[in-house]
Amino acid sequence: MFTKILLTVAVVALIWFGFAFFRRVSADNRRRDVRRDVRQGGGKEPPVFRPDPDGAGVQDLIKCPACSTWRSAKLGSCGRGECPY
Ligand SMILES: [Zn+2]
Repeated sequence: MFTKILLTVAVVALIWFGFAFFRRVSADNRRRDVRRDVRQGGGKEPPVFRPDPDGAGVQDLIKCPACSTWRSAKLGSCGRGECPY
């Protein structure tokens, strides 16, 4: 009886620590891959936001009273008849 309980606890502990170990190893591999890609200059660089110096990429959005969506004024009409843009 006692050996059954001990065996169950041992199996649960083995699965628990096995998953923890697997997660740690895969996280280390992912970090190493990213570091290697950045070092080699290719691959997936982490995305960096670089705003335009003149602010051309930044637009104010206006709310259309007909369809209640927020759109850039440069986009023009949303296609509905009562759209004022
Ligand atoms: Zn509209």
